[in-house]
Amino acid sequence: MNVPTTMRAMVFTGPHRSLELREVDVPTPTPGQVLVRVHACGVCRTDLHIIDGELPDALSTVILGHEVVGEIVQSPGQDGASLLPAGTRVGGRENLCASALFTGYHVHGGYAEYALADARYVFPLPPSYDDVHAAPLLCAGLIGYRAYAMAGDAQTLGLYGFGAAAHLVAQVALAQGRTVFAFTRPGDREGQAFARRLGAHWAGGSDQRPPTLLDAALLFAPAGALVPAALGCTTHGGTVICAGIHMTDIPPFPYALLWGERSVRSVANLTRRDAEAFLTVAAATPLAVHATPYAFTDANAALADLRNGKVEGAAVLTMLH
Ligand SMILES: [Zn+2]
Repeated sequence: MNVPTTMRAMVFTGPHRSLELREVDVPTPTPGQVLVRVHACGVCRTDLHIIDGELPDALSTVILGHEVVGEIVQSPGQDGASLLPAGTRVGGRENLCASALFTGYHVHGGYAEYALADARYVFPLPPSYDDVHAAPLLCAGLIGYRAYAMAGDAQTLGLYGFGAAAHLVAQVALAQGRTVFAFTRPGDREGQAFARRLGAHWAGGSDQRPPTLLDAALLFAPAGALVPAALGCTTHGGTVICAGIHMTDIPPFPYALLWGERSVRSVANLTRRDAEAFLTVAAATPLAVHATPYAFTDANAALADLRNGKVEGAAVLTMLH
C-alpha cells in the first residue's frame, strides 16, 4: 500500500488547550515497530487527565490516543517469527513496566491517520466487532477486565461510573452469573436506565446504598470520595478496586470503614496476558459495545462530551482516509 509522506493529526500542545489539527510527517517504523493505518481510536478518560495537566510527565507536544484500531501497512526488518502480515487488523495498548512509554502520552498515539506501534504489543482483533466497536475493547474493556479479575470470585459487584469500561465489564460479569449493581453520578437517570437495559440488577446514584452489601466494588470514575462511599457499601473481607490512572484526593474516613479486612487497591495499566485473555472472552461472549462515533477532527467535541458525562458507552474517533 502506498503510504503518504504527511498526515493529519489532532495534536496536544499543552495543558488546558484544545487539540490542534495539524499536518505532520507520517512516522517511519524502525525494526521492531509497525506502521498502522488508523481506522478508529477510542477516547479515554486518560486523555482528559493529560489535557487537564494531571499527568505532568506527558510530552509537551504529543498525539493522544491509545485505543487504536487499524491495519498494519509497514513492518520493516521483522524476523518473521512474530510478524503479523500486512493488512492484519490490530489494536495496540498500554503496557505494564516501571519505565514504560505509553502510547498517546509519552509517544504519539492514534488521534491521527497513521501511528507507530511496538510489534510485540499489537493484537489481532475478533472479527465480530467492527472498527468503531473494537476500539473500546482496548483500554476500556481491558482495564475493566483486569479490574474485574482482581475482584476474584466476588458474587456481588458494584460498578462506580457506568461508562466505557463498566458497560463492558457488566456484560462479562452477568454472563458469568454475577450480581451487578451500577452506580452513576447522583441523578443521572439516563445512565442508570442504560445500566438496567444492559442487565444490571440495580442502578442508582453513588450516594445511594445498594440492596445488599458488595463483595467487591470497581471504581471507574476518577473521584476520590467514591473510595469511602464504596467501602461503606462493601462487606467484610471485600475489596474496593480503583481502576483509573488518576483520582482526586481521597478524603479522610473513619477506620471503621476499612475494618473487617476490607481492602483498597489500584489497577495500573495492562499486560499482554490481559489482552489475550480479554480478547478471547470478547470473541466468545458477544458484547454489546455502545460506541458513539465522532470524526477524528472533532476530537475536542468528543473529549468535552466525555468530560460532561454525555457519552453513552464509549466515544470513538473514526478516520476517513
Ligand atoms: Zn485508556
